[in-house]
Amino acid sequence: MTNSAWDRLSVPGLDDAGQSPLLEPDEPAPFELFNSRGTANALLVCDHASNRLPRRLGTLGLQPAQLQQHIAWDLGAAAVARGLAQALDASLILSGYSRLAIDVNRPLENPELIPRQSAGIPIPGNQRLNRTERYVRIATLFQSYHRAIARWLDLHHAPAPCMLSLHSFTPRLGGDWRPWDIGLCYGRDTRLVERLRPILQQEKSLVVGDNQPYAMKDIHDFTLPTHAETRGIPYIMIEISQDRLQTSAQIATWIERLSRACEWIADG
Ligand SMILES: [Zn+2]
Repeated sequence: MTNSAWDRLSVPGLDDAGQSPLLEPDEPAPFELFNSRGTANALLVCDHASNRLPRRLGTLGLQPAQLQQHIAWDLGAAAVARGLAQALDASLILSGYSRLAIDVNRPLENPELIPRQSAGIPIPGNQRLNRTERYVRIATLFQSYHRAIARWLDLHHAPAPCMLSLHSFTPRLGGDWRPWDIGLCYGRDTRLVERLRPILQQEKSLVVGDNQPYAMKDIHDFTLPTHAETRGIPYIMIEISQDRLQTSAQIATWIERLSRACEWIADG
């Protein structure tokens, strides 16, 4: 990954000591490596785990209630990801900051990388960023997260691991109702979806979406195309409806269901 565009960026405004002009010393790191000694032959990632904003960005001009909504993070995804990592004894890397500061699952050239609006809500603090402000967000949050993933994969290449990316989706988008309980999303590599789909479909009451709510695409997604597809690592993006992640009991059910469906991963 060392030759990729996101890794080559030099960032004006970052001092030589690597001190970030975006994060203060007492703020959490841009990523969290959870269960770092996990023995499963898999890496779990959670791109939209947090709704935290760097203190220096304030609220980006949004109301506190808006920062609790889907525009800021994938509600429930981090809890499922942590539970699944524990159940499988897998390592998990979670992004530490909100997609409103920068969306770590968008290519650098995608206009939604630092969104000016989301779901029709304008984001005042993202309207007129200069080049330095933009690069500081990329270097501090985006690059740190992706370097952590690349480093983990560099160290765990034999035998080839697989990657699972945990997300949640809002069941209503505009006027549309999205009927799936869970969506299995993928791009060119169908190895994991072919393994997981029949297992999940055995549960008759579960509505399993195939590449729903959307298919993975290079212009829209960054994490799995960059880290998994380029390395030939089997992967899947798992999207769970936020309607099904409302309570701790529902979250526990997903952890149990997914760990059963993925138990072959824990076996190595
Ligand atoms: Zn997401």
